[in-house]
Amino acid sequence: MSTASADTTASLDRFSQPDSAGHFGSYGGVYVPETLMTALQDLEKAYLEAKADPEFQAEFQHHLKEFAGRPTELYYAERLTEHCGGAKIYLKREDLLHTGAHKINNAIGQALLARRMGKKRVIAETGAGQHGVATAAVCAKFGLECVVYMGAHDMERQALNVFRMRLMGAEVRGVEAGQKTLKEAINEAMRDWVTNVRSTHYILGTAYGSHPYPMMVRDFHRVIGLEAKEQILAREKRLPDELVACVGGGSNAIGLFFEFLENAEIKMTGVEAGGLGIKRGEHAARFEGGRLGVLQGCKTYILQDGDGQIELTHSVSAGLDYAAVGPEHAFYRERGRIQFAYATDDEVLEAFQLCSRLEGIIPALESTHALVHGIKRAKALAKDKVIIVNLSGRGDKDVQQVAKLLGAQA
Ligand SMILES: *Cc1c(COP(=O)(O)O)cnc(C)c1O
Repeated sequence: MSTASADTTASLDRFSQPDSAGHFGSYGGVYVPETLMTALQDLEKAYLEAKADPEFQAEFQHHLKEFAGRPTELYYAERLTEHCGGAKIYLKREDLLHTGAHKINNAIGQALLARRMGKKRVIAETGAGQHGVATAAVCAKFGLECVVYMGAHDMERQALNVFRMRLMGAEVRGVEAGQKTLKEAINEAMRDWVTNVRSTHYILGTAYGSHPYPMMVRDFHRVIGLEAKEQILAREKRLPDELVACVGGGSNAIGLFFEFLENAEIKMTGVEAGGLGIKRGEHAARFEGGRLGVLQGCKTYILQDGDGQIELTHSVSAGLDYAAVGPEHAFYRERGRIQFAYATDDEVLEAFQLCSRLEGIIPALESTHALVHGIKRAKALAKDKVIIVNLSGRGDKDVQQVAKLLGAQA
């Protein structure tokens, strides 16, 4: 890292570290049973020590390179750009990482931290299965016992990822409660953690949950933005005009955005899952119709009814199908620094095919939400403008589902 970017990092730290109780403005915090308070405090202490330890950072960088395959390419999507007829579209190719998505950045960081804390057992939750696969991979690599909680409905939708996790030695526990998706899987993981906290580290998979998770997960993904900044400066000799990323919990988005936050002229847009449209129970766009509340340890925007009961959510992509959004996103939205948009299932299916056909790149359905917005913006902007879209993962895991959906439409 050059001195210039180290300076930027220092000033960014002043700009946006959570307060001592883990709040980003009014969002975030720690809302857990008392039995987990100590665990979270120990984790924060261990993480801050690791963060300041050059040896830990060097080891993290080493595994990002040798195991995950960093740096990832910043790819000029020439035919997609021509098709749109406006701004240049660059894709940050997180889909090229080992295990197929950005999730591996955070999984490596937290596995190293678990090892440093002397914890030999790791648990994780997973939605689309990508975080489960990334966690299973790092646990295999570092010789850690691994248990992954996954909603039974998601296990059906993403059967191939279940098989991958088991191949790599993880135990996958299906969760039959409620909607049988990500929220229930997180509940089970928390329950496990409360019981086994001495031996176990919980590798949470997104920039969500109680402090220090949102901050820590963000930090492990900052490499995305650091690389993208260097790469666009090398390619275009200037910074981009806009950044676009999909937002489930918010980790790939904050990973790309963070390094650019202080460049006020750069527009940043997080794209949520519009599902079948913005009607109750048919989407997962928390900033469209969500309200402030507390869910799974965190205060943020949540899709809930008048009594505070969590509403049903829907998205074509399992990885964006969650009723709450990462607290740091809520904070920057309030400050007007990050804008939010949504993409519907239909728009996503169309862009999924367009990107595959024009670029020879099959994007994850999650990432395709960002592409939908990137394409709209490219059409609206002049040819001398530059947009970076975070291609958070590859779409191989989604091909079967898309085939079914397109068959049903035909
Ligand atoms: C999990 C996942 C997401 C959503 O998670 P964030 O924490 O919001 O990034 C997006 N894209 C892919 C490919 C994923 O696997």
